[in-house]
Amino acid sequence: MKPAILGGAPIRTTSLPYARQYVDDDDCLAVNKVLKSAFLTTGPKVKEFEEEIANYVKAKYAVAFSNGTAALHGACYAAGIGGGDEVITTPITFAASSNCVLYSGGTPVFADIDENTFNIDVDEIAKKITNKTKAIIPVDYTGQAVDIDGIKELIKGTDIVIIEDGAHSLGTKYKGARVGGLVDMAMFSFHPVKTITTGEGGIITTNNEEYYTKLINFRSHCITRDIDQLINKDIGGWYYEQLDLGYNYRMTDFQAALGISQMKKIDWFIQRRKEIVERYNEAFKDLEGVILQENADFSDTVNHLYVIKLNLPKLKADRKEIFDAFQAENIGVYVHYIPVYWHPYYQKLGYKKGLCPKAEELYNAMLTVPLFPAMTDNDVEDVIKGFYKIINYYRK
Ligand SMILES: *Cc1c(COP(=O)(O)O)cnc(C)c1O
Repeated sequence: MKPAILGGAPIRTTSLPYARQYVDDDDCLAVNKVLKSAFLTTGPKVKEFEEEIANYVKAKYAVAFSNGTAALHGACYAAGIGGGDEVITTPITFAASSNCVLYSGGTPVFADIDENTFNIDVDEIAKKITNKTKAIIPVDYTGQAVDIDGIKELIKGTDIVIIEDGAHSLGTKYKGARVGGLVDMAMFSFHPVKTITTGEGGIITTNNEEYYTKLINFRSHCITRDIDQLINKDIGGWYYEQLDLGYNYRMTDFQAALGISQMKKIDWFIQRRKEIVERYNEAFKDLEGVILQENADFSDTVNHLYVIKLNLPKLKADRKEIFDAFQAENIGVYVHYIPVYWHPYYQKLGYKKGLCPKAEELYNAMLTVPLFPAMTDNDVEDVIKGFYKIINYYRK
C-alpha cells in the first residue's frame, strides 16, 4: 500500500488526535450547579476534591492548584528550594518539571534515562548528587512509576526531598500502592489530556503537615487568617497577614466540581486505557522496526502516553519522515518530549547538547501513539493498520 504522503489513500478520512478529554453530561451538570451556587472559588468543592484525591492515593493531605506547573512551584517552595540549590530531574519531560526549579531560584540538574523503561535512571541520579542537591523531581514518564525505593535508598540519611511528578500517573501503582502517598510530595495534573481533567488544574499530595501548611499558604499569597500563624494577634475580625511571598494559584470551585465528577469515571478511564495498551502491545510486539517501552515489574502502569521507539537502523526514513507520513494518514502521532535542556532558553542558561546521550537518542527515535479512553476499537485498529502500513513501507 502506498503511503498517503506519496499519493496513496489515507487510512482515515478524519484525523485522530494523540489525546482528547472525555467530558459527559454528568460533568456538565456538576459544573453548572456550582456556577449557580454561592461560591465560584475557594468554596466547598475544592476541599471535597482535595479529600477525594488524598483518599484515592492514600495520602494524608492534598492541595489543589490552578495548574500542575503551579503545583510543582508550590512543592519547590514547601521543600525550601532557593538560590544555590540543585534539583535533579529527567530531560525527557515537559518543561514544567524543571521550570519550577528555576522559578524558585534553584538549578535544574539533568540525569539520564534508562534506555529500556525511558524513566530516569537511579544510577544516573547517583552520579549527579552533590552537597548542593536539595531535591529530586522524578517523573513517572508515560504513567510508569519510577523506582521509588531505589531513589529512597540512594538518599537515605540525607535531607533530600522527593517531589514526584505524577502528571502522567494518576492511578498507577508502585509495588501495589497507588503513587502519590509514597514520597514527600507528589504532583498530579488535570490538563485535558491527562487521566482526569479540570480544564486547567493540578494538585500536590503529601503526608507531611508542615508541607501542607506551606502549600496552602503559597497558593494564596502566603496570606493567612490562622490565629496560630499570625504575628500580631487580636487586631480584629477583618485582619489577615501576608507572611511570605506567595501567588494566586487557586483552583475554582467549578473546576473542582468537574474533577469530582471525573473521579466517578476514573475506574473506567483506567480500564479503557489498559485495554488499548494491551491491544497495542500485542499488535506491535512482532512489528520489526519499532521498539516497545519496557515496563518495570514494580509498576502497575496506567498509561497516559503510549510511546514507541523507532528502530532507525532498520528503517529507510528518519523520525521526521515517519511522523509526516502518519500525519498524512490522519493518525495524530506526536513527540513527547524534546529534551528540556535543548530548548533555546536552557541553551542560553548554558546547558549543552550531549548532556544525556540516552535521552537524546530516544528523542530522535520516539513517537507518541494516540491513546485516550474515548477511542473506539475502530480508532485503535486504524492506528495499528497505520503502523503496519508505514513501518513496513519504510523498512530496509
Ligand atoms: C502536564 C504536565 C505537567 C503539568 O502541566 P500543567 O499543564 O501545568 O498542568 C508537569 N509535568 C509533566 C510531565 C506533564 O506532562
